[in-house]
Amino acid sequence: MSAAAKSAVTQPGAHLRVVSDGAAGTSGIAISGVSKTYRTRDGDVPSLKPLDFHINDGEFFVVVGPSGCGKSTLLKMISGLLPPSSGEILVDGKQVTEPHGNVGIVFQNALLLPWRTVLANVMLPIDMKRLPRDKYLPRARELLKTVGLAGFENKLPWQLSGGMQQRASICRALVHDPKIMLMDEPFGALDAMTREKMNVELQRIQRETGKTVLLITHSIPEAVFLADRILVMT
Ligand code: ADP
Ligand code: MG
Repeated sequence: MSAAAKSAVTQPGAHLRVVSDGAAGTSGIAISGVSKTYRTRDGDVPSLKPLDFHINDGEFFVVVGPSGCGKSTLLKMISGLLPPSSGEILVDGKQVTEPHGNVGIVFQNALLLPWRTVLANVMLPIDMKRLPRDKYLPRARELLKTVGLAGFENKLPWQLSGGMQQRASICRALVHDPKIMLMDEPFGALDAMTREKMNVELQRIQRETGKTVLLITHSIPEAVFLADRILVMT
C-alpha cells in the first residue's frame, strides 16, 4: 500500500478519534458505539469512550496512542476476552460475545508455557482446538523457520532470548491459520534491529496470506511502515 493511501487523523481534546472511511459491510470487523468502563472496588474506571470504526477484510490496521488510552482494552474486546460496557462488535457480521476461533493473538510478552518446548508452544492452539497434529506440525516447523528459529524447536523458552520467544509467540498465533491477527505491541520488548526485521517479516506474511491485521504500537515509524490505515487514540 502506498503512503498516499494511508490515512491518519487525530482529534484534539477527544479521548478517541474515529476513522471510518472503510466500506461498511458484513465482512471485516465492525465496531459500533463500543465503550468500556471497568468496575473496580475503588469505583468505576472509564477506559474507552464510545468508538465506531470498521476494519476491512485483508486490511493492515494500526492503532497508535499513548499508554493508558485504552488500546489493550479495545483489542481484548475485539478478541472476545472482555465484554464491552456498551455497543457492539461484529466479526464477519457475527456479534462477538465470547473468544472466537478465527483469531490469533500476540501480546506484548511472549507468554510461552515454560514446560513446553518451542515447537510444543507453537502447537498449543492445535492441541487446544483438537486439530490434526500431523497436518499442522509441518506448518509449525515452517513458521519457526520463517522467523529464524529453525534448530530451536526442542529448546525450552528459557533457553531463548526475549526476541526469540516473541517470534515463537507470533508463530503460535499463526499456526492455526486464523483469518484475523490481533497484535498488542508485539515488538515492544525487542531491540531496534530485530524489531525492523520483524516488521518486514510481518508485512511479508500479511501480504502473502491476505490476513486482516490489527496491530497496536507506540511506534509511529512502525505504524507508517506497516499500516493501510492508522487510528490515532489520544
Ligand atoms: P493501553 O493499552 O492503551 O495502555 P489499557 O487498555 O491497558 O491502555 O488501559 C486503559 C485504562 O483502563 C487505564 O486507565 C487502565 O488503568 C484501565 N484498566 C485497564 N485494565 C483494567 C482493569 N482490569 N481494571 C481496572 N482498570 C483497568
Ligand atoms: Mg496496552
